[in-house]
Amino acid sequence: MPEIHGCLTDIEQELYSRNIRIPEVGVEGQLKLLNSRVLIIGLGGLGSSALYYLAACGVGEIGIVDEDRVELSNLQRQILHGRKDVGRKKTVSAGRSITRLRPNLHLIPYSCRISEANAQEIIAPYDFVIEATDNFASKFLINDVCVRLGKAFSHAGILGMYGQTMTIVPGKGPCYRCVFGDPPPPGAVPTTREAGVLGVVPGVLGAIQAAEAIKYLLNCGCLLVGRLLTWDALAMHFRETPLPEDMRCGICRTGADLQPSRNNGKEIGK
Ligand SMILES: [Zn+2]
Repeated sequence: MPEIHGCLTDIEQELYSRNIRIPEVGVEGQLKLLNSRVLIIGLGGLGSSALYYLAACGVGEIGIVDEDRVELSNLQRQILHGRKDVGRKKTVSAGRSITRLRPNLHLIPYSCRISEANAQEIIAPYDFVIEATDNFASKFLINDVCVRLGKAFSHAGILGMYGQTMTIVPGKGPCYRCVFGDPPPPGAVPTTREAGVLGVVPGVLGAIQAAEAIKYLLNCGCLLVGRLLTWDALAMHFRETPLPEDMRCGICRTGADLQPSRNNGKEIGK
């Protein structure tokens, strides 16, 4: 958890005045946010939304991980990027966007794909992780490394007009693998490239992920631990499903070593 030190400057007092007026935040909470570190893995639709709100609310240091370059078909949902960014690395494009909002933000770009070789080193320094990836291999890998490191994270997945999200706090509820077992067989779940996704779906889900990160950092409220929140935008229904821990889970029950990902990385959207 972030430590509190320093004091707010006059500009910060004004910049974050609406945060500070919330009893759960206050000056102390704002200082916590300014001293906190969040890692966002994936700079697509979910990551765009989460990064904007986390930067805007004053998180002090944000790591961003993505190896992709901006494509024209991304712009319908990935609000960090614009027409002039097509062809640029997403970490570069995101950095330019977010620096306009927060010139002093300590932004750490990782222009690479998260992998078994680098995940632990990248994730370890952060207080909270936003899992905003588009493939099952990365989702299971991030879960396994975060659980092993005792690192809290928010999962989200999107497809069509539907999204789901849950928060994992190791030792305090089920992990992603407790709920979803193993990666599905290749081709079993359509990708957003195949099935499409409405841009507002990752926008809303990414904002929920940011809210979970902020609450975790402030140690307030009730996190989505042990419950899966799903949003059907077509029916306009939010539903909550209680999630039991899997006593046989090879990751959070036994502290087993990392299992190799058995999926070839089908997208479920970003
Ligand atoms: Zn588990």
